[in-house]
Amino acid sequence: MFENLSERLGGVFDRLTKQGALSDDDIKTALREVRVALLEADVSLPVARDFIKAISDKAAGQAVTKSITPGQQVVKIVHDELVHVLAGDNDNAGELKIDNAPAPILMVGLQGSGKTTTTAKLAKRLKEKQGKRVLMASLDVQRPAAQEQLAVLGTQIGVDTLPIVKGQSAVDIAKRAKQQATMGGYDVYMLDTAGRLHIDEVLMDEVQSVRDIANPRETLLVVDGLTGQDAVNVAEEFDSKVGVSGVVLTRMDGDGRGGAALSMRAVTGKPIKFVGLGEKMDALEEFHPERVAGRILG
Ligand code: GDP
Repeated sequence: MFENLSERLGGVFDRLTKQGALSDDDIKTALREVRVALLEADVSLPVARDFIKAISDKAAGQAVTKSITPGQQVVKIVHDELVHVLAGDNDNAGELKIDNAPAPILMVGLQGSGKTTTTAKLAKRLKEKQGKRVLMASLDVQRPAAQEQLAVLGTQIGVDTLPIVKGQSAVDIAKRAKQQATMGGYDVYMLDTAGRLHIDEVLMDEVQSVRDIANPRETLLVVDGLTGQDAVNVAEEFDSKVGVSGVVLTRMDGDGRGGAALSMRAVTGKPIKFVGLGEKMDALEEFHPERVAGRILG
């Protein structure tokens, strides 16, 4: 569907006269193509604009090495800058602060973002890769099936879930989870909060109350990577209200080109810790900036 950016730039530079260094005009033309590629990959306009500005400074006056074409050279500059922005100064994606047992992890996000699935995927990962004893609890008292959904996943992956007690509030459940995690000698307890279709005050109040009880070591925001700019708005909102320590982008197995990741990183400054790559319990990966950069470039 999309023409590859390298091919596109190759075409642009073929039309330009070969010179010893990238000229201003060469760069201008190339950057127009880069801008289109970013927008097609669902990078938000202001982020694309800032990004172009940063690379135009870097590209100016760069000597064109014999081994690669000017088109490839610009692609390399763009690629390196994408990786730089995506990685931030966080070179240990996937590492969570889970010392001091029992370490609470708060999972937040909108309904349907993949929060419950991600909670279970992450629990499985902590258990298998780090040998952690994990307790999961669903605080979703709005959707009756939500607590059962987490219990079913728990059984499937061999991770304990907090027994369901009907009629309790999210705050009651959070207190019980904390108590059980302490008494039961768990390393980590994960609180899967209720989502809504849109952000609303009641939701935020509830998440804040839960946060105050649990005092989480990590607050992970789960967002649908296919929702582009919306994902960034959601992240800003959650961060201002409850404070987010990291982001998990789901549905990165879909058709999206990953632009949400760039916008997310650039706008919120929050590290992307993991990406969801499918519905299966193993479909969770540490965030790899190079892979997403490659995908954005097409
Ligand atoms: P929640 O409402 O935020 O808890 O969302 P769920 O965890 O129930 O997920 C909603 C749907 O998205 C389910 O059908 C999941 O299997 C699916 N899902 C979650 N993460 C991913 C992902 O990374 N890729 C794909 N393709 N589907 C996902």
